Amino acid sequence: AIHLDAGGKRFGDSVVFANLDLTVAQGEVVSIIGPSGSGKTTLIRSLNGLETLEQGVVYLNGRAFLAGSEERLSATLPRHGCEMLEIGMVFQSFNLFPHRTVLENITLAPRYHHRGSKAEIQAAARATLHQVGMLAHELKYPHQLSGGQQQRVAIARALAMEPSVLLFDEPTSALDPETVGEVLRIIADLARSGRTMVIVTHEMKFALDVSDRVIFMEKGQIAFNGSPEALRQQLQQGDRLSEFVRL
Ligand code: ATP
Repeated sequence: AIHLDAGGKRFGDSVVFANLDLTVAQGEVVSIIGPSGSGKTTLIRSLNGLETLEQGVVYLNGRAFLAGSEERLSATLPRHGCEMLEIGMVFQSFNLFPHRTVLENITLAPRYHHRGSKAEIQAAARATLHQVGMLAHELKYPHQLSGGQQQRVAIARALAMEPSVLLFDEPTSALDPETVGEVLRIIADLARSGRTMVIVTHEMKFALDVSDRVIFMEKGQIAFNGSPEALRQQLQQGDRLSEFVRL
C-alpha cells in the first residue's frame, strides 16, 4: 500500500497541488485521469521521489520513506532508502537503456542490487519477458523494437525488481495507435493479478475497465474519487466530468 499525506508541490511560484491526500491499498488498482496540466504526472512522480515535494509525507506499507523538503521529518528519513526499490515505474517514453539488449535491460537492476546469482537473475528475467510476450526478442536492442514492444520490455524490467507497487505514467501516450492495445492488455493482466498499481492515463475506457477506483484530477485537486460504477453514474448527470470523459 502507498499513501501520500497532505502533499504539496510547486514549481517556482506555480502551485501544482496542495494538501493532497492519496491512498492506494494493497492489491488496489487506481487510475488517475484528468485534463492536461492538472498535475497527474507530477503527483505520480512524487510518490517515488522523482519529484521532490515541499509538503507532505509518503508512506510505503505503513513506513514513512519520503518527506517534503519543508517538513521537519525530512532530515530524519534515509535518502533513497530501500523503499524506492519496492516501487516500480513505467514511463511514457519507455526509458530503456539504448546500448543494452532486452535481457540486459531486465537484469541490470537485479544484478546491481544482488538479487541472486547470475543464472537465477537471468532465469527470473526470462520469466518476466515471457509474461509480457517478449522472450523471443531477448537479444535485440531497443531500437530494433516497436514502441509497444519497448514498453512491454519496460514493464518486464519493472516487474523484475518484484515491486510492491507499480506506477504507470501515461504508458501508452507515446505509442502508435496499433500498438496501444498490446500494452493495455499486459497492464490489464497485471491489474487482474492482484498487484497494487497506480496508472496515469488518457485511456478512459481502459481506466474504467481495469480499475478498482478512478481519480479525476483537475487543477491540482481531486475532483472525483470513486469506483468505475460511481463514475459511470456521475457521467450520466452531464456535469464537468462528462465534458472531459467521453467513452
Ligand atoms: P499531461 O496530461 O499533459 O501530462 P499532467 O496532468 O500530467 O498533464 P503535469 O505534467 O503534472 O500535468 O503538470 C502539472 C503542472 O506543472 C503544469 O502546469 C506543468 O506545466 C507544470 N510542470 C510540470 N513539470 C514542470 C517542471 N519540471 N518545471 C516547471 N513546471 C512544471
